[in-house]
Amino acid sequence: MCGIVGYVGRGNALEPVLSGLKNLEYRGYDSAGVAFCSNDMFHSVKQVGRVDALEAELAGLRQTKPNLAIGHTRWATHGAPTKLNAHPHFNGAKTIFVVHNGIIENHNEIRQMLQANGYNFISHTDTEVVPHLIDYFYAKFNDMDKAFETAIRELKGAYAIVMTTKYEPNKIYAAKLSSPLVIGIGADNNMVGSDASAVADAANKIVYLEDYEIAIVERKSYAIKNIQKKQPVTRQPEDIILEDI
Ligand code: GLU
Repeated sequence: MCGIVGYVGRGNALEPVLSGLKNLEYRGYDSAGVAFCSNDMFHSVKQVGRVDALEAELAGLRQTKPNLAIGHTRWATHGAPTKLNAHPHFNGAKTIFVVHNGIIENHNEIRQMLQANGYNFISHTDTEVVPHLIDYFYAKFNDMDKAFETAIRELKGAYAIVMTTKYEPNKIYAAKLSSPLVIGIGADNNMVGSDASAVADAANKIVYLEDYEIAIVERKSYAIKNIQKKQPVTRQPEDIILEDI
C-alpha cells in the first residue's frame, strides 16, 4: 500500500502535495518523494522515512513554486526501503516520472524486453519498468497520450499510476486497476490522489476512478477513458464529505 498525490494549478504545487502526502502517511512511510518542474528543469527529490524527512531534503527547492507536482509515500513490496528504490521512478533521460501503488506482476518480462532494447535499470522495484516502457512507446509514437495508454495496456497486476512528463508539462497522467485513485476538482486547480484525504486541502469535488480507466488531468479540465471499452467516460463529480476523511 502506498499513497499518491498530484496537483496542477496556480500557486506552489508542492504545498498541497506535501500536505496530501502527510494525510496519506497511514498508507506507508518507508520513503517519500516528489517530482516537479521549475524553471524548465525537472526535479525528483526523495528521502527514506516520513514526509518530514522529504521536506528537509527539499529545502530551498520548495520555494521554486512549481505549478505541477506529483508525490508518493512508499510501503515497499519489491526492493528494500532505500532512497534508490523510493518513488518517483524515471527514464534514463529524466523526462518521465512515475509514482505507483500496487504490484506489476509481469515486471520481469517487461524488464527483459526493455534491457534487450538497451534500457538500463537503477532500482530493484517492479515500478521502474513503467517510466522506461512509456519512454519506449514515446520513441515509437512521438505522442505521449498514446504512449501512456499503450504502456498501461501492457501491465498486469494492480496499480494506481500517476505520471508527470517534460513532453506534456501541463498534464498529469493517471491510470487505475485494483488500487484506489481519485481526481480532486478545485476552484483553479485539479488533483489526483489515493483517497479523499489526499486531495481535500485543495479540492472540493471528487471523482472516483474505476478499474481500466486512465485520466489526463489539467488545471481547468480532465478527461477519463475506459481502455477496455475504448470509450470516454463521463462521471458526475461528488461533494467531498469531511466525515469520510
Ligand atoms: N511495488 C511498488 C514498490 O515496491 C509499490 C509498493 C506499494 O504500492 O506498496 O515500490
